[in-house]
Amino acid sequence: MTVDRLLPTDEARDLIVLVREIASEQLAPRASADEAAARFPRDAFRVLGQAGLLSLPYPEEYGGGDQPYEVYLQVLEEIAAAWMSVGTGVSVHSLACWAVAEHGTDEQRKQLLPEMLSGGQLGAYCLSEPQAGSDISAMTTRAARDGDDYQLSGTKAWISHGGEADFYLVFARTSDDRTKGVSAFHVPAGADGMEFGAPEQKMGMTASTTTQVLFDRCRIPADNLVGEEGQGMRIALGALDSGRLGIAACATGLGQAALDVASTYAVGREQFGRPITDFQGVQFLLADMAAAVEQSRATYLHAARLRDAGRPYSRQASIAKLTATDGAMRVTTDAVQVLGGYGYTKDFPVERYMREAKVAQIFEGTNQVQRMVIGRDVVRGAAGRGTSS
Ligand SMILES: Cc1cc2nc3c(=O)[nH]c(=O)nc-3n(C[C@H](O)[C@H](O)[C@H](O)COP(=O)(O)OP(=O)(O)OC[C@H]3O[C@@H](n4cnc5c(N)ncnc54)[C@H](O)[C@@H]3O)c2cc1C
Repeated sequence: MTVDRLLPTDEARDLIVLVREIASEQLAPRASADEAAARFPRDAFRVLGQAGLLSLPYPEEYGGGDQPYEVYLQVLEEIAAAWMSVGTGVSVHSLACWAVAEHGTDEQRKQLLPEMLSGGQLGAYCLSEPQAGSDISAMTTRAARDGDDYQLSGTKAWISHGGEADFYLVFARTSDDRTKGVSAFHVPAGADGMEFGAPEQKMGMTASTTTQVLFDRCRIPADNLVGEEGQGMRIALGALDSGRLGIAACATGLGQAALDVASTYAVGREQFGRPITDFQGVQFLLADMAAAVEQSRATYLHAARLRDAGRPYSRQASIAKLTATDGAMRVTTDAVQVLGGYGYTKDFPVERYMREAKVAQIFEGTNQVQRMVIGRDVVRGAAGRGTSS
């Protein structure tokens, strides 16, 4: 089904037409085969970059598309509906670019952004560690100043695009202060002292390589510091708000794809002498799936519009991530149900969608962490109002 989108400009409408063409001709047809072979689709990111689709929310002066976040996220949803690994890859890449665009020096922006935004350079975002997942302030990777350089030592875990990316945005400790002792660094691929673990053997999104990134006295120029020393946690958390919206949009696309396969199948499948869509039990499944997908889209768009208007949107980003990824898990599971035994085979993509949905509840902050963020904000608001009888 083609999603009927309300877009703010003709330019945005043209972008959706363009992304649908690329998604249907160059992404969807190869997604299942590349996932089965665990083949990282580096060329797909180049195609998207050349079409201008990796640069949408960034300023024109650095090669960006100057589009509002609500447009970027809808483009991302279309990409993820065709291929989840590429959609989430675009979101990860965008996070790595965001830090330089938002906190880099003019020199860094001029030097780095054009290649990043055109897809010439693909990024990775190195925050998590083996012992620092939900609690990122427990990170132990260190960056020690040594003359005109920093030396990085430690292990980053679960890094999407590990070993495939051209640059790594790395968060490391520059002092022992749990929150103010973290800094961000731009580390180009091939830096001496940076190595990669074996790809994680995952249950889904196998085409999106995930590895540890190991630093052993990895020397980088002090000019590669992004933002100021000690500002890393602020950068990481700011990027995560945007990243959560990216994952919400991807999960919405995945749910939409599952709904499309399930409803098309159901219309053509007959049991008891009639199409299974004649049975209310099946129609209600499809109705709940459609409601979940539209709820997901509405929550991420609301958060994006707040962000575009310069208003606070952290709580809404967490609500969108929680709603869309829990929704995608339910919708993809129900899609398998609608297809019956065939849904449980690799003849149809819905079993893959279900495996892909699971990780969206885990990365970019688990859904328990999203509930913590939302719950804290609710409590803060209530405390601010004070007690009244
Ligand atoms: C495929 C994949 C790709 C990833 N890509 C990246 C990447 O590119 N860059 C990057 O930096 N990271 C990446 N990650 C890491 C991801 O962000 C972490 O896995 C996630 O933040 C959770 O950390 P953890 O796995 O250590 O789980 P833990 O933090 O150990 O959590 C274990 C369980 O405890 C729960 N829990 C923890 N603390 C609390 C609490 N206070 N209250 C309630 N429940 C709690 C969690 O919700 C979870 O259910 C990726 C992960 C995966 C699986």
